[in-house]
Amino acid sequence: MKICLDAGHYGKYNNSPANRAYWESDFSWKFHLLLKAALERYGVQVVTTRATKDKDLGLASRGRKAAGCDLFLSLHSNGIGSGVSATDYPLACCCVAGTADVLGMDLAETVQRVMQTDQRARIIKKKGTGGDWYGVLRGAASVGVPGILLEHSFHTNRRATEWLLNDGNLERMAEAEAETIARYYGLTMQEAPAAKPAEPTAQPSSQPSAQPASDPAGSFRVRIVCSTLNVRTSAGAQYPIRMTVSRNEIYTIVQTAKASDGGTWGRLKSGAGWINIGAKYCKRLT
Ligand SMILES: [Zn+2]
Repeated sequence: MKICLDAGHYGKYNNSPANRAYWESDFSWKFHLLLKAALERYGVQVVTTRATKDKDLGLASRGRKAAGCDLFLSLHSNGIGSGVSATDYPLACCCVAGTADVLGMDLAETVQRVMQTDQRARIIKKKGTGGDWYGVLRGAASVGVPGILLEHSFHTNRRATEWLLNDGNLERMAEAEAETIARYYGLTMQEAPAAKPAEPTAQPSSQPSAQPASDPAGSFRVRIVCSTLNVRTSAGAQYPIRMTVSRNEIYTIVQTAKASDGGTWGRLKSGAGWINIGAKYCKRLT
């Protein structure tokens, strides 16, 4: 499974009229790296179209970089007019061949759900001379790869712009999009390589399990008591967020560790990562 991710723009491009701190090029660069990391946790091989943010590259040649991949995905935020606007919806521009419609709609709906956009997700297919109107999609089509250009709502919308400026939001959205892509291709999250040597008895299952019989000795279950809790790659708040869990969900902890700040962390049996199991966040059940 191989996916080509394209950061939509280079340099400093498309400054938001709603918040001058926002540049579409900054967002798409940051987000494509987060999505790359999230997809790699599902065992996807990810290639990117640009080695650095500061170099331009022709549209079609970016698309052609997808040669040999199963999917080409170009990441953007949309704009309308020259001022601030109320328009707020995700849009997947799917290749005219029609081979990316289902995943495109899935991804647009994922963005709608995570960003809580005001209007509903939609897809379009835009035809130009010689196939796709969008150069990047035309490039991908020329090497036989289904392409999607995904607009993460509008940077001309104040709410959407503020949302996209928050790194925690982008991490959550990267996880959600990776999950959507994984579900579409039938992939499951792989055990974190870093966690393997420390936990030889752990079950390499991709799903949380409630079967006490198969739990390693010393494991216990917790109920999440805060509204959402970050699952991180290792024991400590300084490690990257992989996904979030929610209030009242129950998880089996198979290993605990003290973080450098003194907090106690627990490793999820699923292999998804570590959560802070302090009383503010979790209630120990068994
Ligand atoms: Zn763009």
